[in-house]
Amino acid sequence: MSDDCIFCSIVDGEIPARTVYETDDVLAFLDANPLARGHTLVIPKAHAERVGDLDADLARAVFDAVSELTPRVQDAVDADAANVGINDGEAAGQEVPHVHAHVVPRFEGDGGAPIHAVAGKRPDLSDEDLDAIAARISE
Ligand code: 5GP
Ligand code: ZN
Repeated sequence: MSDDCIFCSIVDGEIPARTVYETDDVLAFLDANPLARGHTLVIPKAHAERVGDLDADLARAVFDAVSELTPRVQDAVDADAANVGINDGEAAGQEVPHVHAHVVPRFEGDGGAPIHAVAGKRPDLSDEDLDAIAARISE
């Protein structure tokens, strides 16, 4: 629990939310300012700011919930598809500093964009650049 964290306050019941799923470790509720009908947020109950702050068990619990809930959310609003994503860090658009996965239902012809649209200008990378990046990640 972190003081003055909105999502910790939701976990604690101090701020109301439309809860759709709950386990010992994970809570999911409707987004208060939805991008689409059924837009749902999935969070660990324990406060963690970034994806990399989750221990393996909690990361697994969050993703288990995401995979179970995504088809349920889609079915509930008769969606054709969904985008699942996490804004991990302020530069990526994270506004609430408590890890949360967005499940955003998508509908044929809804005018939205794929997840490829989230980044800025595409980089021009040589094979050497790609090799170097892959090596650093896998180190
Ligand atoms: P972020 O930009 O951090 O990835 O997304 C934060 C999300 O939390 C936004 O989609 C926003 O609408 C949602 N949100 C912010 N405050 C509240 C709240 O008090 N209740 C609920 N249900 N959603 C919230
Ligand atoms: Zn929190």
